[in-house]
Amino acid sequence: PSPESLARAESLIRTIPDYPEPGVLFRDITPLLADASALRDCIDALIEPFAGTFDVVAGIEARGFLLAGAAATVAGVGLIPIRKAGKLPRPAAAVSYALEYGTATIEAHDDITAGMRVLLLDDVLATGGTLAAGHELVAHLGGEVVGTAVLMELEALGGRALVPDTHSVFVA
Ligand code: AMP
Repeated sequence: PSPESLARAESLIRTIPDYPEPGVLFRDITPLLADASALRDCIDALIEPFAGTFDVVAGIEARGFLLAGAAATVAGVGLIPIRKAGKLPRPAAAVSYALEYGTATIEAHDDITAGMRVLLLDDVLATGGTLAAGHELVAHLGGEVVGTAVLMELEALGGRALVPDTHSVFVA
């Protein structure tokens, strides 16, 4: 995609102050998702650096699912959902990680198998805990993380320290 079309797509990400709690600038990608050409341009930009290197995409619940579904179809690969704890019907591998207050757990079925090349996707990189936990989960199941990619990186939150090679389409 051209720089102009990506700039247009970025302008469709809405910033909501004080959601879900005071002090947070929430990046709402729903207007971007609703726009056909912005969505396609962003999916192309998200997976471009990894063309031909992955067997499957894994998306992290919930907004990572939306990007992963589109990316899998565009790339012609399958999709593995990485879910929040307790949502998967079969026994699943789990990784817990620290949040600002408390902890969170993400899980995946063993559909990620040894040697599978996985591109891990989410919408926003903030403190990096979620993406780092996703990385650990894929590796725990024997998958090879060929890359991590997000639509938007929030640079001031420093998440890149936990997932240094992450590809971000937009940096705010
Ligand atoms: P973190 O683990 O801190 O990198 O947070 C990343 C996860 O939380 C992603 O799954 C995002 O969907 C969500 N998230 C964190 N901060 C924001 C934000 N400012 N706007 C939108 N989503 C966010």
